[in-house]
Amino acid sequence: MVRAERVHKSFGLVEVLRGIDLEVRNGEVFCLVGPSGSGKSTFLRCINHLEKINAGRLWVDGRLVGYRQKGDKLYEMREREVAQQRRDIGMVFQRFNLFPHMTALENVMEAPVQVKGKSRREARESAERLLERVGLADRMRNYPAQLSGGQQQRVAIARALAMEPKLMLFDEPTSALDPELVGEVLDVMRQLAEDGMTMIVVTHEMGFAREVGDSLVFMDAGVVVEAGSPREVLTNPRHERTRAFLSKVL
Ligand code: ATP
Ligand code: MG
Repeated sequence: MVRAERVHKSFGLVEVLRGIDLEVRNGEVFCLVGPSGSGKSTFLRCINHLEKINAGRLWVDGRLVGYRQKGDKLYEMREREVAQQRRDIGMVFQRFNLFPHMTALENVMEAPVQVKGKSRREARESAERLLERVGLADRMRNYPAQLSGGQQQRVAIARALAMEPKLMLFDEPTSALDPELVGEVLDVMRQLAEDGMTMIVVTHEMGFAREVGDSLVFMDAGVVVEAGSPREVLTNPRHERTRAFLSKVL
């Protein structure tokens, strides 16, 4: 579903990604961990072309991200094509970023109506189904301010799913939550994984990574230090840097 080959990204003179190679298979839960500033969010942003990579290649679902290839030449996609490509990728951030003036239901309906041109009726029906799926059947008419952080984050997940993405990116979806609300969001993510969604999850929740993850990559200073099954990497890290990191978060 996602393939990165020697992906580099710099901001000015600072090289944040220094040759990332990895592969995310269809239906896989791919966990990305690493210290603050190691480039995890930047990498996610490259996947949906919110950031342009400086070198290397990045594919989503067999297609180059942001470029089209003719012969051996690459052409930058127009903004419209980029937007088209982005539709297939759902993203959930640390902060919930819901529209504050819209109810949960309206938040979930918005993109299918505005972007996909669905009828309001069709969008409402699928939004209701999605909100039920994330356990919010009784909260659909509430505004974000009337919902807990965990509930808001579940609305954010439903909103991303409303676009019927092929791939979901999660950037520390639980780290802004009070501890007692973390579980309800992880449960929704676990369910999504069981339903076969391909997911890249940046997280410090090592319990989740171990139980739900199929692969785990430890990144530090813009490179992949170590990759393997979560069990392997978490119980038997081979690199000193991985060990040092895990001793802080486990
Ligand atoms: P955290 O765990 O704190 O979220 P991270 O692994 O997600 O960290 P990134 O947010 O990807 O790290 O940032 C990696 C580095 O790139 C940091 O040093 C950051 O300051 C820098 N950086 C990120 N975005 C920009 C930007 N738009 N302009 C300049 N520097 C940036
Ligand atoms: Mg980050």
